[in-house]
This record gives sequence, structure tokens and C-alpha cells, in this order.
Amino acid sequence: SKSIVAVIGRPNVGKSTFFNRLAGRRISIVEDTPGVTRDRIYAEVEWLNHTFSLIDTGGLEPSSSEIIPSQMRKQAQLAMEMAHVILFMVDGRAGITAQDQEIAELLRKNNRPVILVVNKVDSHQHSEYYYDFYELGLGDPIEISAEMAYGIGDLLDLVISHF
Ligand code: GDP
Ligand code: MG
Repeated sequence: SKSIVAVIGRPNVGKSTFFNRLAGRRISIVEDTPGVTRDRIYAEVEWLNHTFSLIDTGGLEPSSSEIIPSQMRKQAQLAMEMAHVILFMVDGRAGITAQDQEIAELLRKNNRPVILVVNKVDSHQHSEYYYDFYELGLGDPIEISAEMAYGIGDLLDLVISHF
């Protein structure tokens, strides 16, 4: 059956931006209600000779100020149950937050492959927090810029190497 890749992370790290970039023209915002991001949360992605389903488990979440820890736990739990590979996204301009640490702790207890994706690295230099991200205990941080489309190809190569 088709491989499933889930994108998780706290609000505002760039999950939807990343998702929309990969989904390309086929993506459409279904509804836009104040306080609720109702982006499409599922897309088929083709990379080299692989096709996989990408899921943004945070696609339906309250506005960033209202997110509560139990919702993030649910997001991570869902991803750990359904995904073959989990992309855990953090913000290269913000560094590690308490919410990131909480998600990382759940992911470390699980044995699904996790790729630690550091987004918002918009220049060809490391994030100033690059080495801090190793403290999350999830291996090498992979830097991308969803907005500038940097590092996406290398990340997808890594994703499909886990199938
Ligand atoms: P989500 O809550 O994790 O889905 O995050 P969004 O995709 O909604 O992005 C949150 C904010 O970060 C938006 O203002 C995006 O424009 C911004 N953002 C996303 N990706 C990048 C990036 O690669 N670089 C920069 N500088 N900003 C980004
Ligand atoms: Mg989002």
C-alpha cells in the first residue's frame, strides 16, 4: 500500500506552507473561518519514482494562541499511528520551545522514522540555533525554507529512503 508521510509540529512553524508547496497547484483552501485554519490536509506527492500521501495533521487546529498541549499530543499520536515517516517541523528562526520539547519527547519513545525538519532557513547559512536542535535527540536537523523552496529536494530524497 501507499506510504504515508505526516507533518507535525507546533503552530506557526510553517507546516501549511511546506504542504502547499509540495501539493502545488492541486491544493485549494477549502474554507477560511476566523480562528480555524481549514487548509486541505492531504495531498499526493510524487518524487522520483515514488508516490506517497502527505498529511498535515495540524491542518485543522485553532489559531496559534489557543493551541493546547493535549491537541499537539493528539496530533503526534495520530502521526505515530498512521505514518511510515514523520516530519517533525521546528522553526529555525525561533529555536527550541517548550512545545517542541514536548513533541520530541513523545517521538523519541516511538520507533517510527522521524526526520527533524528545521524550517525558515532562508539563506544558505545554518540557522543560528542549528546545533541546539541536536538536543531534541532526533538525529541530524535537516534545514529547509518552505517559503524559498530551499532544501526540499534533499529532504524528499531522505523521506523516500525510508520506504
Ligand atoms: P503552520 O501553523 O505550522 O501551518 O505554519 P504556516 O505555514 O501557517 O506558517 C506560519 C508563518 O510562517 C507564515 O507567516 C508563513 O509565511 C511563515 N513561513 C513559513 N515558511 C517559512 C519560511 O521558509 N521562511 C520564512 N521566513 N517564513 C516562513
Ligand atoms: Mg497550518
